[in-house]
Amino acid sequence: MIVVGKGNAALCAAIEARNAGAKVLMLEAASEDESGGNSRFAGGMMRFAYNGVEDLRTLLEITDEEARNTDWDTNTVDEFYDDLYKVTSYRTDPKLSELLITRSFEAMQWLRKQGVRFVLNYRAASAVVDGRRRFFGGMAVEVSGGGPGLVQFLDQAAVKTGIDVHYETRAVSLIYDGEKVTGINAKRHGKVLQYHAPAVILACGGFEANPEWRTRYLGPGWELAKVRGTRFNMGEGLKMALDIGACPYGNWSGRHTTSWERHAPEFGDLSLDHACHRHCYPLSLMINAEGKRFVDEGADFYGYTYAKYGEQVFKQPEQFAWQVFDAKTHDMLRPEYLGKVATRVSANTLEEL
Ligand SMILES: Cc1cc2nc3c(=O)[nH]c(=O)nc-3n(C[C@H](O)[C@H](O)[C@H](O)COP(=O)(O)OP(=O)(O)OC[C@H]3O[C@@H](n4cnc5c(N)ncnc54)[C@H](O)[C@@H]3O)c2cc1C
Repeated sequence: MIVVGKGNAALCAAIEARNAGAKVLMLEAASEDESGGNSRFAGGMMRFAYNGVEDLRTLLEITDEEARNTDWDTNTVDEFYDDLYKVTSYRTDPKLSELLITRSFEAMQWLRKQGVRFVLNYRAASAVVDGRRRFFGGMAVEVSGGGPGLVQFLDQAAVKTGIDVHYETRAVSLIYDGEKVTGINAKRHGKVLQYHAPAVILACGGFEANPEWRTRYLGPGWELAKVRGTRFNMGEGLKMALDIGACPYGNWSGRHTTSWERHAPEFGDLSLDHACHRHCYPLSLMINAEGKRFVDEGADFYGYTYAKYGEQVFKQPEQFAWQVFDAKTHDMLRPEYLGKVATRVSANTLEEL
């Protein structure tokens, strides 16, 4: 079997196929150093259905004392459905939603079994309130080491099960006899290669790194958006499938766009870690270049608004906004706001600002 890509989706597919007895080869467009796709840039926060601390204890170690002295959030199947409906205004595929939600806990257990280690998400989904630790937002767990950790754990599992990877090998088209796919054409260092296999899995991301496709599907101006993740996802998997007649489906102009450092590099940079995230806007007033507000910053927890407010920022004049914080919030800001990558201006009065 050929698996195209080497992010979370590809690694999971490859490992499961190998566990079921298939011989598996992965093709990865990036070099080994840059491999791992957006999965490697992710925070590693895991949203899955769970009923309380006893479920969490099957995934990671939580002492009796921690279990007793913490307000553990829940994310029951019903709560998960409610959230999904809320953020999509009910425009979500019912079958895929059901699969995602009802099998999510099982997926976490599968990942654990492959050697992925989880830790409590103290960093982004918890706080001490009136002397007691509380989790909120239904995301009490993250992968140890975040996205890079996730890819590393799965990579180790893949190596252990004997999965081969060809790096710097970009899949370009499916070999298709009119009835079935029998392999894939790829390119490495300008040379055309043919791989034949009884099954091909396309797990090579979306088109977020392709400025021409962003303009085509998201609209004029979107070629200028900064990409938070890998530069290797050019939409080739989608193109290959469409070229042999796959039916386009889903929300092609939908996007996950977040507030991000204005002067960040064009693509994600792993060495910058979280430095470009700008998630503290619920504590701010967000204003555009003309000094006008354009969203309700505190409409909900940031987890419910961040992926759509980025788009609102992008629609403003010059495609940016200021997040204005009062000094009172200083100690509540995430560390990246105080780091050297943050563009900031301070003043003692609003007029001066
Ligand atoms: C900054 C950031 C933070 C995030 N935080 C979280 C989080 O905390 N929690 C969460 O659940 N999600 C998070 N996400 C989203 C998450 O990272 C993605 O949804 C997920 O990683 C997608 O996995 P994937 O395997 O489908 O794609 P990817 O991980 O992007 O993998 C695609 C792979 O395909 C390869 N490829 C592309 N084209 C070709 C080709 N033609 N031939 C061969 N290989 C090819 C790429 O090199 C890559 O290896 C975050 C994303 C970003 C960018």
